Amino acid sequence: ISSTELTREFLERSKSLNPDYNAFITIDEETSLAQARAADAMIAAGQAHPLTGIPIAQKDIFCTKGWLTTCGSRMLSNFISPYDAHVIERFNAAGAVNIGKTNMDEFAMGSSNETSFYGPVKNPWDSTAVPGGSSGGSACAVAARMAPAATGTDTGGSIRQPAALCGISGIKPTYGLVSRYGMIAFASSLDQGGPMAKSAEDLALMLNVMTGFDARDSTSLQREPEDYTRNLEKPLEGLRVGLPKEYFVKEINADVARAVDAAIAEYSKLGAKTVEVSLPSTKLSVPVYYVLAPAEASSNLSRFDGVRYGYRAPEYVDLNDMYRKSRAQGFGAEVKRRILIGTYVLSHGYYDAYYIQAQKLRRLIAQDFIEAFKQCDIIMGPTSPTVAFNLGEKSSDPVQMYLSDAYTIAVNLAGLPAMSIPAGFGNQNRPVGLHIIGNYFAEAQMLNVAHQYQ
Ligand code: GLN
Repeated sequence: ISSTELTREFLERSKSLNPDYNAFITIDEETSLAQARAADAMIAAGQAHPLTGIPIAQKDIFCTKGWLTTCGSRMLSNFISPYDAHVIERFNAAGAVNIGKTNMDEFAMGSSNETSFYGPVKNPWDSTAVPGGSSGGSACAVAARMAPAATGTDTGGSIRQPAALCGISGIKPTYGLVSRYGMIAFASSLDQGGPMAKSAEDLALMLNVMTGFDARDSTSLQREPEDYTRNLEKPLEGLRVGLPKEYFVKEINADVARAVDAAIAEYSKLGAKTVEVSLPSTKLSVPVYYVLAPAEASSNLSRFDGVRYGYRAPEYVDLNDMYRKSRAQGFGAEVKRRILIGTYVLSHGYYDAYYIQAQKLRRLIAQDFIEAFKQCDIIMGPTSPTVAFNLGEKSSDPVQMYLSDAYTIAVNLAGLPAMSIPAGFGNQNRPVGLHIIGNYFAEAQMLNVAHQYQ
């Protein structure tokens, strides 16, 4: 099958399903098909890479030259990017086809895709449920086979939680492995791009493309390139699986706990040994995150002023009024909430009490993992305490929404890699995700662990 035929298939499916699921903000058939024809020419010339000609859905947080790039916000609802993010450049160089830009929570702030200016995305397993967020459009697109794979970004769980809720796989790499250049910033010390797909093998092939040093991101790491597929077939005999006692508590939904326990039992059959570990500071991760992430967001989002690009209020009296009205109209409620919290915790008089305190606790949260990895190779638990919740169920209660990331956030604070893989179904027959946390740069090992289960 040629890339042109393949791309046409996925475009047809996306066009017919998107009115129901709302997974894509932009589908641009002509551009996708032109890329597919170029890929077919690459293949004919013997210059194919493993991803040449493969359609990939791109989260609308990645600047994509000539494409509308909205970040799920009215603020960027008219923004045609003049340049490509590093990740997009890499996929282009590999000959992959951009099959569309996926819906997301506004500026990646959310866990249900309900904060998007473009409306919520539906969970393909049950259209009354959320797909998770913020990469909910990407998760939905892959789960509903509108795209074979997609990109996401993860600041506090936004790849792993929607992957779990939609029954697919996703990995957040070690902080610094994937360049943030051209990835619209939310909380720069936490943001990391990564792949979402059906299998660990697909994730590995995508990571081979997405990772690598980029001088335009000051936190990009200079490391020897790795082949992330190299360990997939290794046996798991002797693998030490750490089970944090703080993860298996009564707050988890009983059906989720049952599915996760069954997955871990499967690993024991594959030769893994479980050890109890402790992450005593983990309970602090949600409050620490909701000081640090809004602080960084309030600073990052100050660039959206209606002057050079993006939304500008149609009527205003002077420059200050133009800023005020453009931001008031351009940002949604959740984004404003974060800007206010962030501005507050960074203000003189509160900075020491909140921001500095949260930075110190961040260190302790990371230290817990360093200690735990002295006793185990990999940590496992649930990705999310519940299965997908109903649309509207938590949208008016930000604290309940924030708690749905209790398991994923600590990983971002520590800069560690982590993934979610499908682990059966919980209540209402909705998917459950198994969370696999690795030590720094353990991506190849984690993908091995995932692949052996799948
Ligand atoms: N749900 C979390 C938040 O709202 C994490 C989002 C993300 O990882 N981008 O901030």
